[in-house]
Amino acid sequence: MTDSLDKVLSSAMAQAFVPMLVTDAELSAGGPHIVFVNQAFCAMTGYSQNELLGQSPRVLQGADTDPQVLERLRGCLHQGEYFQGTAINYRKDGSPYWVEWNISPVRDQQGRISHYVSVQQDISSRIRAERERDLMTAALNATGASVMITDAQGLIKLVNRAFTRLTGYFPDELIGQTPALLKSGLHPPRFYAGLWQALMRGEPFSATFVNRRRDGSLYHASQSIAPITNEQGCITHFVSICKDVSDMVRREHRLREQANSDRLTGLSNRHAGEEALHALWQQAQLENGETFSLILADIDHFKLLNDTHGHLTGDRVLRAVARCLAEHSRNDDMAVRWGGEEFLLLLPGSDLHAALASAERLRMACHQVEDEQAGHPSLSFGVAEVSAGESIEQLIARADMALYSAKQSGRNQVRAAVQGLED
Ligand code: GH3
Ligand code: MG
Ligand code: MG
Repeated sequence: MTDSLDKVLSSAMAQAFVPMLVTDAELSAGGPHIVFVNQAFCAMTGYSQNELLGQSPRVLQGADTDPQVLERLRGCLHQGEYFQGTAINYRKDGSPYWVEWNISPVRDQQGRISHYVSVQQDISSRIRAERERDLMTAALNATGASVMITDAQGLIKLVNRAFTRLTGYFPDELIGQTPALLKSGLHPPRFYAGLWQALMRGEPFSATFVNRRRDGSLYHASQSIAPITNEQGCITHFVSICKDVSDMVRREHRLREQANSDRLTGLSNRHAGEEALHALWQQAQLENGETFSLILADIDHFKLLNDTHGHLTGDRVLRAVARCLAEHSRNDDMAVRWGGEEFLLLLPGSDLHAALASAERLRMACHQVEDEQAGHPSLSFGVAEVSAGESIEQLIARADMALYSAKQSGRNQVRAAVQGLED
């Protein structure tokens, strides 16, 4: 019975797919010596049984075998303790491999250690995979681009360091959440619908997102999102890469504002006014398009004011009048510095009647303005509502004639343009 069990055990060891090695317990003078290796061990190392029997396992070690691991191994063997460790070993052809050792002492009936049995495993591919994964993680964290990976349901699985730096969230607060956490509320629902449509077609989606940080502040991110598919072509994940472009967006915004505003008064400049007028006019041409009116306002006797009190005073009055016009315009209205001391007001949705009332309100308000030197300035106003079929130039010409008429009638007054000029 014992005999046959021994046989079974030794054939089991010999035939096991796990590489195994048994040595004697001779730890000095060239020992221990290999007394048994199985087929799997020979396959792993490239040596035959005969080449290994009687040798020390040191024949498998070499330049890159970690001496500290060997030191610990020796310590364990001397103490008669179980040892587990990993190190680089070398095959017969000199090629290195990572091996995991599990070495146990084998004791005889008196309790003395007679042998050591070592169960080994070639873990090179695992180590390689771990190293590749570590490299990918280090690269992801080293890059300045913010990376986020979600699963197919949109749950966040991974974020890199740049992403947490950008958003202010800790990874733990993001993992398992959806990117909706970052929504600013500033994109219309169709923006996200377009995103999902592209992704579900398997296409990448790129856009500038306005998102919200953990502290509530907003940022602009130039973001590109792509689906990741498995071998069957099914979407398993989405990867999003983004870059903070807030500074650029702010700069562009400032430049646009500068290009559209008048330096002295801060009102919209003539260029911006012309564009807005064009948009209103085009819109009014549509069937059921909305009407609009415009007002041309011009400071009375401004040349005299300049001549009497100086140009600086003139500038100050211009700024005060501009502020007054802006403050007393409705939110939808636009006040434009049209020329030197001439202003254009655009009134979307206002017919002539409403525009005349607005002009009268503005006239009175501006006459309340008081300059320490020049006193109360006055303005004359010409008001016109767009009429069917006329061009922008014709509309302005009518307002201009109304303004002229206000000047002729003694200034500081409002005049309505005559309806639709013949040309
Ligand atoms: P009216 O009542 O008929 O409008 O007479 P006015 O003197 O206001 O008209 P006019 O067109 O003869 O003169 C406009 C003056 O506005 C001439 C110009 O020097 C002055 N002006 C134009 N732009 C500026 C500016 O930016 N600052 C100052 N201080 N004056 C300006
Ligand atoms: Mg004037
Ligand atoms: Mg003028």
